[in-house]
Amino acid sequence: MLSDIKIAQQAKMKPIMQIAEDLQINEQYVEPYGRYKCKLDHALFDSLKDKADGKLILVTAINPTPAGEGKTTTTVGLGQAMKKIGKNAIIALREPSLGPVFGIKGGAAGGGYAQVVPMEDINLHFTGDMHAITAANNLLSALVDNHLQQGNALSLDPRRILFKRCLDMNDRALRNVTIGLGGKLNGIPREDGFQITVASEIMAILCLATDLADLKERLASILVGYTYDNRPLFARDFKAEGAMTALLKDALKPNLVQTLENTPAIMHGGPFANIAHGCNSITATKLALKLADYTITEAGFGSDLGAEKFLDIKCRFGNLHPDCIVVVATIRALKYNGGVDKAHVAEENMDALKAGIKNLGAHIDNMRLYGVPVVVAINRFLTDTDEEVRFVSSYCAEKQVECAYSEVFAKGGEGGIELAETVCRVIEENAETTHFAPIYEDDTTVYEKMDAIAKKIYHAGDVSYTPAAKRAIREIESLGMGNYPVCVAKTQYSLSDDPTLLGAPEGFTLNVRDVRVNAGARFIVAYTGTIVTMPGLPKVPAAERIDVTEDGVIEGLF
Ligand code: ADP
Ligand code: MG
Repeated sequence: MLSDIKIAQQAKMKPIMQIAEDLQINEQYVEPYGRYKCKLDHALFDSLKDKADGKLILVTAINPTPAGEGKTTTTVGLGQAMKKIGKNAIIALREPSLGPVFGIKGGAAGGGYAQVVPMEDINLHFTGDMHAITAANNLLSALVDNHLQQGNALSLDPRRILFKRCLDMNDRALRNVTIGLGGKLNGIPREDGFQITVASEIMAILCLATDLADLKERLASILVGYTYDNRPLFARDFKAEGAMTALLKDALKPNLVQTLENTPAIMHGGPFANIAHGCNSITATKLALKLADYTITEAGFGSDLGAEKFLDIKCRFGNLHPDCIVVVATIRALKYNGGVDKAHVAEENMDALKAGIKNLGAHIDNMRLYGVPVVVAINRFLTDTDEEVRFVSSYCAEKQVECAYSEVFAKGGEGGIELAETVCRVIEENAETTHFAPIYEDDTTVYEKMDAIAKKIYHAGDVSYTPAAKRAIREIESLGMGNYPVCVAKTQYSLSDDPTLLGAPEGFTLNVRDVRVNAGARFIVAYTGTIVTMPGLPKVPAAERIDVTEDGVIEGLF
């Protein structure tokens, strides 16, 4: 089979104006970025306000191997398959970050014959949203440091600045930095740090804001730090929100692209799911629901991360009600969860599969807690053997969960027909009984929310807090923000906060190391285990294989 990028480069793309027209979007709402990408104006949503929403399908997964298990591929393939069975569907994805593109995982535009295109553009600069977010973030940092330099009228304590700089790159050397060195003309020295852009609060705000006014209000509410006498200072105290909104004005508009089979795909916003909330923007999802009968969206990593945050944070803020949850599993990752080394997951190993299948079981049980029907999609790899495949389907039958094979990677939409038919049937059969509800109420404490997530979703026995975390929670409560939803930063490899505990661990203690409030995004971030918000590059970064030919064709992206 050809490489992902070769397949993508052979795609017969339609002009983006045609894709918009197929969605019955009037030209006046379309802002083209070249021939194959466009942004959609907010007025489009207003013009469709009274139209009924379509069905919402969330694609999530089991705990992955480091290579990713095919959620994006399955999401795209399912969208393509819907068209094959005569349904009108749209895909709503996140925008890729350069961190993984140049790191281990590669791009985030799907794979094989289930991709969104133009994949090089999407994976590199796209329509500039990431750059705009980075610029808006670093503008606030620059204003804050300039305030210190110009006499610090607000008495900001440079040791208690919470807001960090950001960059969309895996660059561990920037995790902790000292800035302002070099004497009087070069700023006030202090410790700072960088997060990857997709972990920044600005990214979360862009994804949760409902319109420009809401965006500006949220930016103004970012907690920057504390004064010497412990008063909180917000972005509005530095008069930052107007200029930040100016930088983000276009980034707030959803991007429209297409799949290899010309299915429309909205890609907008891209927070990671392990160190941020892991879903595309609320504006994009709400718009998609107006534009098609079925919206298929992906949340990052396993269901313990992206899906939990989608259901408990994004759906809560956006008043969204999913109709079906698709849990993607691969036989490779099940064996990995059964203790097989990454290098050997392609070999048949029934013992490991039998041990690792508990991981799938845990994710199915978890998703059932939300009152939404579940479908398991087995993302088929060439190396899967018949016996392994039979075992997984009989396990699903025993658990009374619908299961379908997906061969969209190898066959495109054609390979997803069984999955598409299963999903549509399950939505219809359960329409009366589907009653989505988040797993915790708004009106509970940080501790109660952490308990619900840790015990119901991670299957922890207990949650421990460092003294720093407890102090931070007291501070957040005193700011009147103690009832915000909780976004947990946690490893993606395990249901627990220890990346080496694979399978379905139970009864462990989840360690909350630190807690912060994203006052603009309006959620609380709890940092567990050793997870950090600026990833590093691996020993052999994917970047080493990426090149451009003399005629400008990009090679080696995957
Ligand atoms: P996720 O969204 O879960 O992180 P992706 O859909 O991005 O996963 O897929 C991760 C990688 O695995 C991609 O490079 C993709 O091309 C590849 N991949 C996905 N499904 C298959 C498959 N069935 N066979 C071979 N490679 C696949
Ligand atoms: Mg993905």
